[in-house]
Amino acid sequence: MQPASFSLSPIVAGLWRITDWQLSVAERVRWIEQALELGITSFDHADIYGSYQAEAQFGEALKASPTLRGRMQLVTKCGIRLRSTDRPYRVNYYDTSAAYVRTQVAQSLRNLHTEQLDLVLIHRPDYLMDAAALADTFTALTREGKVAHWGVSNHTTSQFALLQQHHPLVTNQVELSPLQMDALDDGTLDQAQQLGLRPMIWSPLAGGRLFNGEDEQAMRTRTTMLDIAARYGISLTTLAFAWILRHPSRPHPITGSGRMVNLQDAVKALDVTLDAEDWYAIWTASKDHSVP
Ligand code: NAP
Repeated sequence: MQPASFSLSPIVAGLWRITDWQLSVAERVRWIEQALELGITSFDHADIYGSYQAEAQFGEALKASPTLRGRMQLVTKCGIRLRSTDRPYRVNYYDTSAAYVRTQVAQSLRNLHTEQLDLVLIHRPDYLMDAAALADTFTALTREGKVAHWGVSNHTTSQFALLQQHHPLVTNQVELSPLQMDALDDGTLDQAQQLGLRPMIWSPLAGGRLFNGEDEQAMRTRTTMLDIAARYGISLTTLAFAWILRHPSRPHPITGSGRMVNLQDAVKALDVTLDAEDWYAIWTASKDHSVP
């Protein structure tokens, strides 16, 4: 079960794209304040975002306005070694060794100007993961006060179960949107419900493809969703978030936009309950066939 002390805001803000937003430090402080005013108190990072620069950009804002930290939950991820100019690996690869997880947690703490990370996720399943050894690393970093809670992202149900057997995990962060529904069928969301662990959901707008995709699936789904959104008197963004929130695993969708109006529209979805017929109309448009 999820530890009682652990909770995220119903909508989480994602910082993957922060380096594209071209915000000054003062503007980043204001952006964070506005998100907090909307009730978005959880912020999703990863060590690799923005070619390893995103956490530090957010951290500059926390340093400039030190009272912000106490009003939020900081989530980050590690475990991917991504080639960059400073890291000339031969290939991109995964590393969940004690040494690498320790190094990246220490770097995230420095980047974010904080003493403790509220939640750290293993970003992608590492085929070479030694679950018992990784659990020992989790335990040690928690004992040292550096990380409060642990979870994973993009893990299959068996990978989740393997690690969960050795150390409590609080979430699996997975992709779900009206254009990407694998998690509905692959057991991920069933497992989340079974364990009472709320999943975090990435790319709820399919990375923007819901708006600008010119492929048939995107166009078909968008047309159906615009009709439904008009009937509810809400935006396409609000409808996409409401579609995700309707799932009984009680997911936490993560916004990806830099524009505050889109965060507002995400939060508005908390007041919308889609009826099952509309939920399935979106499913049907996306799949291009009826339920069996
Ligand atoms: P998303 O909400 O699906 O996509 C955001 C993108 O959609 C932005 O580029 C945004 O541009 C665009 N967009 C939003 N509204 C739009 C509109 N009306 N018209 C055109 N474009 C629009 O989310 P995401 O950024 O892909 O993912 C969200 C978060 O999930 C990330 O920040 C990250 O924290 C997390 N994530 C995790 C993983 C993982 O493996 N665990 C993978 C990917 C992402 P604007 O900024 O201009 O609005």
